[in-house]
This record gives sequence, structure tokens and C-alpha cells, in this order.
Amino acid sequence: MTTNGEQPTITFLGAAGTVTGSRFLLSCGETNVMVDCGLFQGLKELRLKNWAPLAIDAAKINAVLLTHAHLDHCGYIPKLVEQGYKGKIHSTKFTAKLAAVILRDSARIQTEDAKYAAKKGFSKHNPPKPLYDEDDAEKAIQKFQEEEFNQRIQVAEQTFVTFHTSGHILGAATLEVEFFGKKLMFSGDLGRDEHPLLVNPERIIAGKFDALITESTYGDREHVASSTNFEKAINETIEGGGSVLIPAFAVDRTEIILVRIRELMESGVIKKVPVYADSPMALKALDYYRQAINEGSLEIREDIRKSWAGRDPFDPGSLVELESVEQSKTVNDPSQPCIIISASGMGTGGRVVHHLRQMLPNSKHTILFVGYQAIGTRGRALVDGAEQVKMHGELVPVRARVEQIAEFSVHADSNELIKWLSSTSVAPGQVFVVHGEAGAAESFSDSIVAKLGWKSHAPKDGEQALL
Ligand SMILES: [Zn+2]
Repeated sequence: MTTNGEQPTITFLGAAGTVTGSRFLLSCGETNVMVDCGLFQGLKELRLKNWAPLAIDAAKINAVLLTHAHLDHCGYIPKLVEQGYKGKIHSTKFTAKLAAVILRDSARIQTEDAKYAAKKGFSKHNPPKPLYDEDDAEKAIQKFQEEEFNQRIQVAEQTFVTFHTSGHILGAATLEVEFFGKKLMFSGDLGRDEHPLLVNPERIIAGKFDALITESTYGDREHVASSTNFEKAINETIEGGGSVLIPAFAVDRTEIILVRIRELMESGVIKKVPVYADSPMALKALDYYRQAINEGSLEIREDIRKSWAGRDPFDPGSLVELESVEQSKTVNDPSQPCIIISASGMGTGGRVVHHLRQMLPNSKHTILFVGYQAIGTRGRALVDGAEQVKMHGELVPVRARVEQIAEFSVHADSNELIKWLSSTSVAPGQVFVVHGEAGAAESFSDSIVAKLGWKSHAPKDGEQALL
């Protein structure tokens, strides 16, 4: 990596040309600050990037700022610490708590996958090794420092950050960063105005920004109502004697789905059947959402804080929380209709893989995908109509009904992103469009130029720009 001496720069070390691996490096002289430190996920060529040497010596980074707890934003932190990072990880309170859950789980999955690959002999590494293990994750978790929303704090020389609510998941923030006199705004992952539990994304405050760094996951699309609706797919499956498997991201998506199922069961739209929450990580996250509601956290919508404090908005009366693997196995290929919510959301790891393996070959069952499916993941292959999928080295036939439901997205679409960006009172110096798959970022950048008349650009992987 080149340096520009005393000129502040930003280098795009990930989430450039892809939706994962968010890592942005701010540099000026001897000061280096990383914004997000995520894992690359999806296609093998992307996952291999997690093993590539970082473009900077980790020991030379002074601070890490974290927008939210999703793995593609925080999942590289243990590796960064292992490589000698000595500073703190600044995040909001619930991002720190949720990231701890997510990093422990990530370390465990990687360790188990490496062991499994060793046993089956299908790894490229010999002997197979995890990217990081549970000890590395614990060391990283110790480095978190919890920060308040809306307070300007100094994190390094001439570097200040303010966390604003982004409405994406519990704890999630957009970051207003001042770096050597330059004013920047990072969208992180921007939520939508209709989250059932979280307050709307905070609009950008007044003032001239030198650069806005915006996500573009749905930058080339607008959310449209699904052709299949959620309750219809559930009702048809249950009436046919089958069960519904919902692969859901453990953090936030599980909560949203549970709230919706409770509402639908309470109003009699869907039949009351057992609802299994089958992901240890999701259950821990669920407790943090309950804590935030009971504490009256300002991230939670006012109506939810007022009407649900002390009660459980996630339980329709038939919620069963499956803690152990033994409990999880009791719902493998269920004989009585039920709804199973299990992680991971893209079917790439975790307990959902075992449920998929059991349920996919049976035409009675339905798999409902409720989140974004990245290219290269099992979930993407399934929603694209794969007739068989590979699992742990075996081909599994797909006979179950597979549907994708778009209505639960917690990412702003192109119109919502434009609305958020244009809430700044003055045109920014420049816009960098990141966190979008090939095409989406460029297309969204073009929209910014066309609709707002601003200077905008979708940086390439590894690109460095002057601020
Ligand atoms: Zn996210």
C-alpha cells in the first residue's frame, strides 16, 4: 500500500465490488483507523481473501470503528488481533454484545469445519486449519469499548467519531467521522423506516461532508412485494401436513420473523403450531433484544418500549427455544407440522444445514428464505432453482418447495438510500459507493450522479483515494 504522507486517504480493503468483507482504512501520516473489519463470505474466491495478507501491518492500526455486529462487518477482528492489533474496537453497547456472540460462533464454526474437513479429507489446507479459533475470538472480544449514541468521542490523533442509529439491527450505527479535518459519513448497513422494533435510520445532520461512504446492497433495486406471501406459503405447507424451515440470520431477522409469526398466530391468520427457534446464537441475540426493550433503549421504537416492556413480543404461545444439539435433533425431518427458524440465513453453516439436509428431499416441506442470498451460497443456489445441492461433500436432491420472501429486508433500497443521502443539507465533496455486488454499486453510483448531481464513484478492491 502506498502512503500519501500527511494527506488523509481512504483505502477500500473490502466490500468493493462485493457485499462482504467491509474494511475501510483511513490513513494520514502515522495514523491509521479502520472502519469495519469484516469477513469475506460467499464465493470461494472471496472466502480465500480472508487468508490473504492484510495490506497494512495490523500493529500500525490505531483504532477500529465498528458500524454493527454482522459477520461481514466484524468477522475479521479476531484475525486482526492475532496479527498484532493492539488498539480498541469502538462500537455501541449492543453491537459489542452481539459481536461477542457472533465472533464466538464464527470461531466455533470455523474450528468445526476445519475438523470436519480433516476427517473427510476435502480441505485444501493440509492439515485443515481454522482462520481463527475460540481463543482468538475471546482476545478480540476483550478489546471492545462500548460507546454511546450521539456523543462525539476521540479515538486517535485528530480522529473523532459519533454513532447515529441506522435502524438496521440492534446496536447498528451510521458513523460520522472527523479525520484530520475531513468530515466523513459511513452508512454502514442502512436500515429501513418500517423495522417493527427499531427506530428509523437517523437522517444525516446538517453540514458539509467531504465524503459519504454508502452501502448499495439493493442499490440497483426497489423492494417490491413478493409474489408469494409469507402467510400463504406457511398455511399451504401446514395444510399439506408439512413443516416450514426458515433459514434466518441469527441476529435481527430471527426477531423480526418471530414478531410477525406471533402477530399472524394471534390474529388467526396462520394456525398455531409449534415454533422452534433453533440457533444458540439467535437465542442469545433474542435475549439482548428483550433486554433492550425492557431497558427502554432509545434504539427501540417508542410504541414497543411502552407496550412490551416486561412482556415477550417474540412468543406466540408456542415458542420453543432449542438450546442443545440433542433438542435440535428432535425436530429433524419433523413428522408433525411446525415452523423451524434456524441459522445461518444463507444455509452456509450452523444447524440449518442439518435441517436442510433432512427436509430438502421431502416435497411436503417448504424452505422459506427471508434474507439476502449472496452469490456462491447454498441459499442463492436454492432460490435460483437448483435441483440438487452439495452438503458436506454429498449431493442432496431438492424436492421441497423453496421460496424467497423479500418483505423482511432490513436494507434500504435504492430510493431509500437516495432519500437518506439527500438528507444532508449541502452537497458532499464526493460519494464512494461500496457494499454492492457487481453492477449494483456502479448502477447506484450512476443514480447518485443523475438524481442528485453529486460526484460519485464505486471504488475497486484495494483502491486508495484522497479525502
Ligand atoms: Zn448488516
